[in-house]
Amino acid sequence: MSFFKEIFSKNIRLNIPLLENKGHEIFMKREDLIHPIISGNKFRKLKYNIKEIKNKKLKLVTFGGAFSNHLLAVAYISKIEKIKAIGIVRGEELHNFKLNPTLKKCIDYGMKLKFVSRDEYRLRHEKKYLEKLISKHSNAYIIPEGGTNEFGVKGCEEILNSNDIDYFDTICVPVGSGGTISGIINSSSSKQKILGFSSLKKSNIRVQINKFVNKNNYKIIDENYFGGYAKFNSQLVDFINEFYYNHEIKLDPIYNSKMIFRILNDLRSNKWNYGKKILLINTGGLQSIDGFNKRLKEKKCATIDFTF
Ligand SMILES: *Cc1c(COP(=O)(O)O)cnc(C)c1O
Repeated sequence: MSFFKEIFSKNIRLNIPLLENKGHEIFMKREDLIHPIISGNKFRKLKYNIKEIKNKKLKLVTFGGAFSNHLLAVAYISKIEKIKAIGIVRGEELHNFKLNPTLKKCIDYGMKLKFVSRDEYRLRHEKKYLEKLISKHSNAYIIPEGGTNEFGVKGCEEILNSNDIDYFDTICVPVGSGGTISGIINSSSSKQKILGFSSLKKSNIRVQINKFVNKNNYKIIDENYFGGYAKFNSQLVDFINEFYYNHEIKLDPIYNSKMIFRILNDLRSNKWNYGKKILLINTGGLQSIDGFNKRLKEKKCATIDFTF
């Protein structure tokens, strides 16, 4: 049987009395429970890409930063599916240090890592650079950073089911490279509002999303609360720990915790201008906690109380 079977994640209702009293219903789609390593949206984005690679019997080349959930997911599935995988990692200097938990696991799963300078990494979307890579690695198949391409978006169109499309007026989803939200936009109804919570302080992610989507019922909210990608403060760490105690749900520190912090904050302070029937897509990503806690310890900050 194929690893990529059909999956419909369950929705659970979050019990937050203050918001229920105001007439809000908040549900969470547990995409985080799909698989411990290929969590949430990475499972969705890789499904049709891996099918294509296996059909064509190709090698795989992909890109990621040092803590990338995507790199780890690709490394893991490549081991299962016996695909040769090469990961191009941002930052030459990483080579010289002890590898972080994410990259160590990638190597354990058999991925070959190639560390490149930030300047070279910037070329990752350029046609010429990609053509060179493809020929260098004997006709390799390239999966873009974050797994966002036509096949990746197609997989993410399978996240919402027909009840979700009928029932909710607002759907919230974290955004990195834009593939997940694109799939959700495509499968949503035009009456629904899709809110994308970017992990970046400022980005031109709309340009990327607009390449894939068939309607415009979405809005991007930048990460201007904690200072940008993978930035944090003690408030965020406290929130993650508190959420775990209140709901027994582990949130990742880069995407989902920031999105949910922001939503609950806006709802509580009456700054929420969107609907009342709200679905949060929990995209998983818990593997990043080990590396994150390491950084917190080095800075002598309080850590996240759980591991993944
Ligand atoms: C990669 C990732 C995202 C971003 O998804 P995109 O499709 O790149 O926008 C969100 N959440 C988690 C946990 C991720 O690992």
